[in-house]
Amino acid sequence: MIYCDANATEPVRPESLAAVMDAMRTTGNPSSSHKAGRVARALLDQARRTVSKHMGGSVENCVFTSGGTEANVLAVRGIGQGRRILIGATEHDAVRRAPEEGARTGIIPVSENGIIDCEALETQLVSSSQATLVCVMLANNETGVINPIREISRLCRKAGAKLHVDAVQAAGRVPVDILALGADSIAVSGHKFGGPKGAGALLLADQAPVPLSPMLAGGGQERGRRGGTPALPAIMGMAAALDAALASPRDLSPLRDAIEMAALQSGAILSGTSAPRLANTTCLILPWMKGEAQLIALDLDGFCVSAGAACSSGKAASSHVLEAMGFGELSGHAIRVSLPWNVEADVAERFSAAYERMAARRRPI
Ligand code: PLP
Repeated sequence: MIYCDANATEPVRPESLAAVMDAMRTTGNPSSSHKAGRVARALLDQARRTVSKHMGGSVENCVFTSGGTEANVLAVRGIGQGRRILIGATEHDAVRRAPEEGARTGIIPVSENGIIDCEALETQLVSSSQATLVCVMLANNETGVINPIREISRLCRKAGAKLHVDAVQAAGRVPVDILALGADSIAVSGHKFGGPKGAGALLLADQAPVPLSPMLAGGGQERGRRGGTPALPAIMGMAAALDAALASPRDLSPLRDAIEMAALQSGAILSGTSAPRLANTTCLILPWMKGEAQLIALDLDGFCVSAGAACSSGKAASSHVLEAMGFGELSGHAIRVSLPWNVEADVAERFSAAYERMAARRRPI
């Protein structure tokens, strides 16, 4: 099996596994005052220092969550309370479905390369006097396209709007720094950079602290912003994975580019290639084959890729991301190949051969 679905989840890094095992042996609850509790609290504090150091935020404003979905929902519902919420057309469902019932929302269009249309955003920002929260992802999960967050932040500041950035696919792959990005909050998820599933974080900017109403009040953990005993092993694993990902960056773009060159020759259409992109991600459209059929054919040939909406590989939905980019009918004909941190160097050769076989077998005469 050759795993090419890193944007669904990255393989666990050995450093992360070791940290998880260590934390599993720690008995205490970080909220307990006795020695065992203090030991667990020290580990939790250490993980918080690591995550906030890498993301440019303060330790006080790093809220641990169960993952990217929860971090996004916490931000959108918390910062978005009473505000109009403008959401990028290519956002993940974790953000698209986050606003509370009855919230006033709007969609920010993207251009054909998948990047937020900044002119349209500017028009939307001045079209209402209501306070606004803008939600734009740093890197897209299906195409890898990277948005100009600093420019978007500038527009938001000018209009007095808040900016939430879903950095789930970007963290560990490209620099993510809440201050440098000019965001009010960013969401990250441990399993997207080689940590275990079940841990994420919401980082909040210091200069404009926003009182977050917790979705789960519970015992008031995380400074009252997220109740419930923190998942120490998953959080420790996330921090170790982030350290490891940033300590040993690997440029996967030559492998991605080789896959794209071969796919083009097999008749594929590429998406988002004129925009800055994550080096590990490509979205290939084969006009004569549904994405789901491609996924199955490649699976039978030993390759794990995804089709359509990324996190829900079980569904055969047409991609709302490609639709927003203007691909129309073809939006249901795409697969996403996302290379993991530990992919073998011969992946391009092997994948390209399988892709060519598949494309040729089904090509209409
Ligand atoms: N945001 C993006 C861009 C994602 O790709 C995903 C998952 O694929 C999420 C949020 C949700 O993250 P999690 O799986 O940690 O809930």
